[in-house]
This record gives sequence, C-alpha cells and structure tokens, in this order.
Amino acid sequence: MEKIVIMGTGCAGLTAAIYAARSNLSPLVVTGTLPGGLLTTTSTVENYPGFPEGIDGYELMARMQKQAERFGARLLTMQTVEAVDLSRRPFTLTVDGEKVQTHTLIIASGASHRRLGLESERLLEKKGVTFCATCDGAWPMFRKQPVVIVGGGDSACEEALYLTRFASEVYLVHRRDSLRASKIMAGRVLQHSRIKPVWDSTVTEILNVKLDKVTGVRLKNVKTGEETTLACAGVFVAIGHVPNTQLFKGIIDMDANGYIIPKKGSATNIPGVFVAGDCSDHVYRQAVTAAGLGCAAAIDAERFLAREGD
Ligand code: NAP
Repeated sequence: MEKIVIMGTGCAGLTAAIYAARSNLSPLVVTGTLPGGLLTTTSTVENYPGFPEGIDGYELMARMQKQAERFGARLLTMQTVEAVDLSRRPFTLTVDGEKVQTHTLIIASGASHRRLGLESERLLEKKGVTFCATCDGAWPMFRKQPVVIVGGGDSACEEALYLTRFASEVYLVHRRDSLRASKIMAGRVLQHSRIKPVWDSTVTEILNVKLDKVTGVRLKNVKTGEETTLACAGVFVAIGHVPNTQLFKGIIDMDANGYIIPKKGSATNIPGVFVAGDCSDHVYRQAVTAAGLGCAAAIDAERFLAREGD
C-alpha cells in the first residue's frame, strides 16, 4: 500500500517527489515513456532561476531526479499508469499490468506535442517530419538543406535558432503576421540571416508521401487564399501542446481542452487526488511554475494524509 503515487517526472512530478520524499512519504513515481518530461528534449534552459549561464534541459531533469532519489523517492522508469479506479480509497492504479494501491495520487502527467492533424504528417513522421528539433535536428538528412518549422511561439523560435546550426535555411511558417514568442526569442529569430519567416500561412500538406520522404510543403496564405509550394528536407512541428489527461476523462474535472481544473490549491474534485504542472496549467507553462505547482501538490497531499490519519 502506497501513501503517495506521483504520475510523471517533469518539473512538477520530480519537485513533488522531492518534497514528498523529504516528508518521509517514500513516494512511488511512475515516469511514463519520457522520463524527465519535455524539458529533456529542449536545449539550454536560460530562465530557470539559479543557473545564470543556463543549463541543459536534460541535465536539469537528471539533477532533479537525483535529488528526489537521494531522499527516498522510488522511480518506476519507463512504466506507465494504464488505468485508474478512483471510485474509492485507497485508489487502485494499473501500472504496466500490475495493480498498485495508494492513499493519494498526484497527477503530473504533463503535455505532449500538438500535431497539425494532416495525413501526410502522420505518414512522414520520422521520415523528415519531427516534433523535436533538439532531438532530431542533427540528422544527416537535414544538413545543409532547407527546412521548415511551423509555429510562432517560444518553442518554434528556439527550435528555429537551433536548426540554423545544420540547415541551409530555416523557413518559419506561422499562421499570423507576428510571433507569440517572448520578445527576446522573437528578436533573435527575426534578426537571424538564415531564418526566413513565412507569415499568414498554414501547411496544408507535407510532400511527398509517394516518395516516402519529405521534399517540401504545400502552403496556403490565410489572407489571400493563395497556394504555393516550398521545397525542404524536413518539417519541424512546434505548435504547442495537448495535456496528457485522457486517462482521467469523465473522472476528474477538466476544461474543454482537457486541462485538469483544480478545485482548491492543487486538489481536484476527488479527495486525495492532486494535480500539478502542464496537465492543468495552460497559462504559465514554465519549468519554474511547474516546479512550484509540484511543491504545492506534495504539501497538499501530505496535509491530506495527516488529516485523514492514513
Ligand atoms: P505556444 O506558446 O502555445 O505557441 C504555439 C504556436 O503554434 C502559436 O504561435 C500558435 O499560433 C501556433 N499554433 C497552434 N496551433 C496551430 C495549428 N493548428 N496550426 C498552426 N499553428 C498553430 O506553445 P510553445 O511555443 O510550445 O510554448 C509553450 C510554453 O512554453 C509557452 O509558455 C512558452 O513561453 C514556453 N516556452 C519557453 C521557452 C523559453 O523560454 N526558452 C521555450 C519553449 C517554450 P498563434 O500564435 O496564432 O496562436
């Protein structure tokens, strides 16, 4: 019987694990299929306090894991919560086919990359279409070739800058005529000689499914309706995220986009179930806010256990 199970090991999950472990709750932490979360796929994190020179995203998460384990957190690496029964306490979770019972649960399952939703995107994934420039940008197929990045947020800007190390040109395709990204990132992108913005445009098809590799994109100008094609060797999709909350649909209160709505603090509509990080936060979505929310969830869970006498 577990006192506390934490689902997810991004900033929220691992910070919750550090706090719960330091409260002697010996948390069981289920990492899911991307231990360390999305931050492990980013390059340098420049805005996490305490690292004036920036820190590699993977290293930051590895350090958080080490810190959690130092105080007694137990990680189930690459294991996934497949099903939940939250109808009575203790709750029953199915983790890689095994039943786990727990008095409290912290959902810190994060978010996944949003997709364009094109059939050609699905068919050409890993054949030139990717969702992570820092993971895949150095592939030989992109070297000294033009590539397309889709999106106008911080992710798209960060990835566009990263891709300039390898690609001959980086076309940044955005559906509006201004970037959503922070001023510092947008400024870097717009000043870069090899990043070429393509404004007011959406990708309607990725070419060429018949050749089984990316050779270009079909674009539509949303203002004029004009259709054009642009030759490229890769398409990097960086258009935001969707929360990983499908497992809790109909059980935990969430908004129309699937973000969990906390009831009070980190508490959800089910007593004993708490939430933290990007699976409930669509406003701030920063590493440091996720860490703060993970801390809050662990404190809330600890107080709940003390109150309930579990
Ligand atoms: P985001 O801020 O939500 O931006 C998503 C971008 O994709 C927007 O420009 C949006 O267009 C566009 N988009 C969404 N759906 C689309 C679709 N179906 N087709 C075409 N374009 C679409 O997401 P993000 O860039 O991943 O950033 C997420 C959060 O992480 C943000 O809070 C960001 O500040 C943070 N972040 C920070 C850093 C950093 O500080 N270094 C790096 C990465 C991420 P519209 O603008 O028209 O809505």
